[in-house]
Amino acid sequence: MSEYNGMRYRTGVRNLFLKKTGQDRAMIDPFGRHVSYLRVSLTDRCDFRCTYCMAEQMTFLPKSDVLTLEELDRLCSAFVRKGVRKLRLTGGEPLVRRNVMTLIHRLGRHLETGALDELTLTSNGSQLGRFATELLAAGVRRVNVSLDTLDADRFRAITRRGDLGQVLHSLATAKAAGLDIKINAVAMKGVNDDEIDRLIVWCGEQSFDLTFIETMPLGQVSGDRSEHYLPLSLLRRQLEKRWTLEESDHRTGGPANYLRIGETGGRLGLITPLSHNFCESCNRVRVTCTGTLFMCLGQSDAADLRTPLRQSQDDAALELAIDEAITRKPKGHDFDLERGQPPALARHMSVTGG
Ligand code: SAM
Ligand code: SF4
Repeated sequence: MSEYNGMRYRTGVRNLFLKKTGQDRAMIDPFGRHVSYLRVSLTDRCDFRCTYCMAEQMTFLPKSDVLTLEELDRLCSAFVRKGVRKLRLTGGEPLVRRNVMTLIHRLGRHLETGALDELTLTSNGSQLGRFATELLAAGVRRVNVSLDTLDADRFRAITRRGDLGQVLHSLATAKAAGLDIKINAVAMKGVNDDEIDRLIVWCGEQSFDLTFIETMPLGQVSGDRSEHYLPLSLLRRQLEKRWTLEESDHRTGGPANYLRIGETGGRLGLITPLSHNFCESCNRVRVTCTGTLFMCLGQSDAADLRTPLRQSQDDAALELAIDEAITRKPKGHDFDLERGQPPALARHMSVTGG
């Protein structure tokens, strides 16, 4: 038996009930797209300072601006009630948030009830090793880990303060614990494009899926990011000369198109927000660690969910604010690296969450 809205139901009946009410409350945007995927940033802080993501000197948000773990739980749970089936925790670095496992365990209850299909996170891997077993216990099955290079000096140069050995150790621990791992690498001309094949071979050996991401013009960083912009359409043409790339219909609910690499048997994802428009099938929204809801990664329009969250313990105002925001989800983004500096959007990826 379980309880919902003060009533007691057998779990199966309750799940049916939830599905029905979920449909009644579903978030459908003006273009008929069903919002079922939420990415939530747990913190703007990070133990790395990746050159494409952050400035060397960052001023982080005051603690009072950031949602508490209880508020994050209420917020995510409201979205789950509204039909979110996949929840990705990100940041900044989600695993540097103090007591983060308390929240992840709490959110795991939505997997148990069947309201949520997947609870996952994107991490830089530095702390993954020590949390791997607990993450599994909370119901997490897959983790995305960002890794742009397998060269220790280059890793230090890109992340400014990361230790490749620590990340590789974390990955080995997480794999041994039973977590499925996908590596995300930002493909950068003149930075790591000479390592693409090495990453493919290594991921094949490790049985990790691999996704390449294009640099996105988010937030002011030192240097001109467009210098390193490597269109993945070009990368794909280059890869086709050396690898057997087979089309794959594998989808994870995210924006990547997957290919299968004949030689390694591994899956290769290409996220191409700039050279290919994936907005048509967009099912995602993002919430920052301050409770600001962005209906599109590439647009500035946003809705404040922190005020209704803090106004009352009742979630009615929060749910209303979410519904209102979904009516404003735009048709698509308009990134354009040709514009150069300043970046298309002033906010950093670490604020919106990757
Ligand atoms: N700290 C975690 C990590 O690095 O995986 C989660 C947050 S990070 C902002 C999420 C993803 O965004 C990472 O894969 C990172 O490489 C990517 N990212 C950050 N800034 C980016 C940018 N300007 N363009 C493309 N990807 C970016
Ligand atoms: Fe931190 Fe991730 Fe941004 Fe790198 S990409 S600085 S690890 S938030």
